Amino acid sequence: LLSTRASNILTSLGLPTSGEISGVYDGQWKGSGDVMHSVCPTTGETLARVRSASPAELEEAIARTREAYMYFRNVPAPRRGEILRQIREGLAQKARWLFVLNDDRDDLGALITLEMGKIRTEGVGEVQEFVDICDYAVGLSRMMNGRIVASERPGHSIYEVPNPLGVVAVLSAFNFPVAVYGWNLALSLAAGNATLWKPSPTTPLCAIAVTKIVSSILERNGMPGAVASLIIGGKKTGEAIVESKDVELVSFTGSEHVGRIVGQTVASRFGKVILELGGNNASIVMPDADLSLALPSVFFGAVGTAGQRCTSTRRLYLHRSIAPEFLERLQKLYRSIKPGDPLIDGTLLGPLHTHAAIETYSKAVDYLQNSGAEILTGGSQYTEAPFDAGNFVQPTIAIPKSPNTKDYIWQTETFAPILNVAIFDHLEEAIGWNNGVPQGLSSSLWTRDLKNLGKWIGPAGSDAGIVNVNVGTSGAEIGAAFGGNKSTGWGRESGGDSWKQYVRWSACTVNFSDEAPLAQGVNFT
Ligand code: NAP
Repeated sequence: LLSTRASNILTSLGLPTSGEISGVYDGQWKGSGDVMHSVCPTTGETLARVRSASPAELEEAIARTREAYMYFRNVPAPRRGEILRQIREGLAQKARWLFVLNDDRDDLGALITLEMGKIRTEGVGEVQEFVDICDYAVGLSRMMNGRIVASERPGHSIYEVPNPLGVVAVLSAFNFPVAVYGWNLALSLAAGNATLWKPSPTTPLCAIAVTKIVSSILERNGMPGAVASLIIGGKKTGEAIVESKDVELVSFTGSEHVGRIVGQTVASRFGKVILELGGNNASIVMPDADLSLALPSVFFGAVGTAGQRCTSTRRLYLHRSIAPEFLERLQKLYRSIKPGDPLIDGTLLGPLHTHAAIETYSKAVDYLQNSGAEILTGGSQYTEAPFDAGNFVQPTIAIPKSPNTKDYIWQTETFAPILNVAIFDHLEEAIGWNNGVPQGLSSSLWTRDLKNLGKWIGPAGSDAGIVNVNVGTSGAEIGAAFGGNKSTGWGRESGGDSWKQYVRWSACTVNFSDEAPLAQGVNFT
């Protein structure tokens, strides 16, 4: 039997609290493949048993998504925008029933917290990101313009025309079980594509709840439900989607290891791919920094979401002159951390998502200890009640023996709350360390000096995709393009020009004249 806390959340979103749940939607709900378990990382409770897609169901879902695309591509873009506006309302609407006090955003936010483990405010904030990108895409639906290019030939015009791509597969990670899909869905639909979503198999309930909201709105508008299909499945399902020639764009968010395989597979069939992979993000604090801004931002960047954000702060470079004070104040903040049930207001630290993540954390701590690092705080698992059932670990600050960026501990993304610190003397040295890792997602400089700012954002500055000043490494807004460089992958999501990846571009030259000038001045007459 489900606990009351879990049962209330599932019920509020129309999800069953017993039996098996269908994990496939392509206009109809189904699922006859293996059973996948949704497990609460806070309590260890099994929340649901979800039926994944059989190989035949996957094939059928891809075919139905393609059929849906054939229809949807002809729906005018502003009408697609209107549907997105309704999806936005569906996510954010006020209570549907008088006895439900929260709005849907809260219910869905609570489900994210229950299933993924992030604190409630962050769960609700994640839904808000979905709402925000829908707003953005509604506007975009009237602004996805091509352009007219000057032709060299008299009486000719050249048009660059965007058209939908086809089927867009979204393969997403566990740590943002709703927002990453939202970013992709909104741009993909605005551009006229149909979407096939394979979420992480450890967060199936979030995906099912979102798909229920989205599909009901599509159907209410007379659209095929398979415009937004869902496939719960494991590695084999993911591989089959990536290999399918019927999928024009694969938008993959996950680890570098899997991203490399996905990128190579899609490239080998000349498909398109967006890769949003691991980050190993640094904050640099200069002597002139406003520490009252830097401290809480570094603290949240390192500890928020229990260090399970792609943009989490993992490396901290402190100028020698402020290092002692900064570290003393940072440790004080660490001592204020309250681990606990992430559903309860005031909790700062929830669990890691899986038990396996504890091993990753412990392995990194062991490495630090064995290699002579100084552990300033943390370094252990919380094993006493009430934390023994969940995956709770202590946020850790370590000073590795050497700031040598070639070392494993600096080079690797450990997806847990571990912050490694080094002390520098010159900004150039710190920028070199910032850039001296394989990843290139987010970075942040704390300074009030314009010259430092110029160096940081210029050609010899940070090589990351996100280059913040007096803003931490995490907490990106949807207005700007989001993504990284180097082994973090390529492609951009969210705002900026990201929508251009969800369309195919055609150059169309039209001759309005009575002449037929040939290429490069060739003349047969
Ligand atoms: P993951 O293990 O790489 O899994 C990501 C997704 O890929 C899951 O849905 C997974 O499903 C699927 N998958 C695994 N092998 C596959 C294959 N061979 N072909 C196709 N799909 C496959 O990553 P994760 O542990 O969920 O997420 C954490 C990672 O994501 C971190 O590295 C984090 O930095 C990164 N991330 C990056 C961003 C960004 O924007 N840059 C955002 C969020 C997270 P199965 O488990 O069923 O195999």
